[in-house]
Amino acid sequence: AVTLVWLRDDLRLADNPALHEAASRGGEVVVVYIFDEETPGIRPPGGASRWWLHHSLAALAESLESVGVPLVLRRGPAGTVLPALIAETGAEAVLWNRRYGLAERELDASLKAECAESGVAASSFQANLLFEPWQVRTGAGEPFRVFSPFWRACLREPEPRQPLPAPERLTGPVVRSDALADWGLLPTPDWAQGLRETWVPGEAGATARLADFFDSLVEGYATNRDLPAVDGTSRLSPYLRHGEISPFTVWHAAQARRSGPLAEDIRSYLSEIGWREFCWQLLYFNPELATVNYRPEFNAFAWESDTGAELKAWQRGRTGYPLIDAGMRQMWQIGWMHNRVRMATGSFLIKNLLIDWRVGEQFFWDALVDADAASNAANWQWVAGSGADASPYFRIFNPVTQAKKFDPDGDYVLRYVPELADAENLHEPWKGAAPGYPPPVVDLAESRQRALAAFQALGDA
Ligand code: FAD
Repeated sequence: AVTLVWLRDDLRLADNPALHEAASRGGEVVVVYIFDEETPGIRPPGGASRWWLHHSLAALAESLESVGVPLVLRRGPAGTVLPALIAETGAEAVLWNRRYGLAERELDASLKAECAESGVAASSFQANLLFEPWQVRTGAGEPFRVFSPFWRACLREPEPRQPLPAPERLTGPVVRSDALADWGLLPTPDWAQGLRETWVPGEAGATARLADFFDSLVEGYATNRDLPAVDGTSRLSPYLRHGEISPFTVWHAAQARRSGPLAEDIRSYLSEIGWREFCWQLLYFNPELATVNYRPEFNAFAWESDTGAELKAWQRGRTGYPLIDAGMRQMWQIGWMHNRVRMATGSFLIKNLLIDWRVGEQFFWDALVDADAASNAANWQWVAGSGADASPYFRIFNPVTQAKKFDPDGDYVLRYVPELADAENLHEPWKGAAPGYPPPVVDLAESRQRALAAFQALGDA
């Protein structure tokens, strides 16, 4: 008998419940990844994520080969590609791990129904979230709108299960596969050098980074996580996004160091993992989170419409504010930006330039290797003040104060904005000579007042 495993956001062998179940059933196993840019509502990956996906699939194919089966690649709308593959392989069962976006769930539900009609057993598993979005509710039975009580409720749930072992040996039939190179996931012209130098996509890269983090870097996390110049966070976000590591594996690696001197660092780290869960819970109950204000009063907000030059300055890291420019250039170079700087660059776009948060969300979607439908949308709404448990609208990050506080010596800024090495005043370069560096694109005090007035008008409306 043939079991078909359909991999999606779970490009790993270890702690992969669908794959584990297929291996336990015995018989032959076919593992497929379908590149689907056609099903309406499923957001195609942006440029940086496509680069990541290419390398992640290449790594996955190698790992699967090493346990005995190829990775079958197919392209097209999964609603037709999957049934065709079931027919072609004569599969009796099809297994997958759950996804939580609305279009993804609708697709999976219709495929399940179609399988049932044709006598194929289709089953889905919990793999990518520690707590299912519907699992925890407020006392009134509602989904949580505020993070802290959400995470407290999660922590009262039964402990997340232990990770499952990777299959040791699989066998399967020969099935035609697309060639990965034909999918055109890699950029032309090639702008990915910085990504190649920074990341090792795939399960082995994830496991190595997890070990580095929990063996040493985690010490001081609760403080270091705010310092962009320090390699003090786990950088597991792209691996979690593509499912090359499971949150259950991360959870138990953290638990193993929970007591003792690292207790506070571990608690702080797990609460960030909790934010990821919270974002997915928000997306599950608000499927349009990337495009629709969570707080409808924001629908009346008067965003700036004539923003061409300012938007371009932000995108290119040429706003004249060193921390903002360093962040945007970091993202260009390595497809990842430090969280504190994501908050600062987001606040700058929304509040100092008065540009609609959705413009920023889309730009990050294209540029981040960890671009995640839930975390990106929820965090942009958090910065805008339009989201659940959001930063209040009057919280406007001052990029100069932020830089002085979190990058006092300018190590981070100079890494990405080297032309400031000769500036007389690193944090406020316009106050002295700063050869080759642009003047500020807006005045901080004026734009702050403008933002406060615009948000005030919203309250008065
Ligand atoms: P660590 O500090 O090591 O945290 C561990 C894990 O917790 C992360 O890998 C991530 O999975 C999760 N996490 C941490 N912070 C958050 C958070 N605020 N919200 C949700 N999950 C979190 N994160 C993404 O994964 N994808 C995105 O597309 C994304 N877009 C963002 C956009 C904006 C405007 C902002 C302010 C934040 C965004 N984040 C996003 C959240 C956060 O910046 C990244 O998760 C974090 O910087 C990843 O680095 P790390 O793995 O070293 O984090």
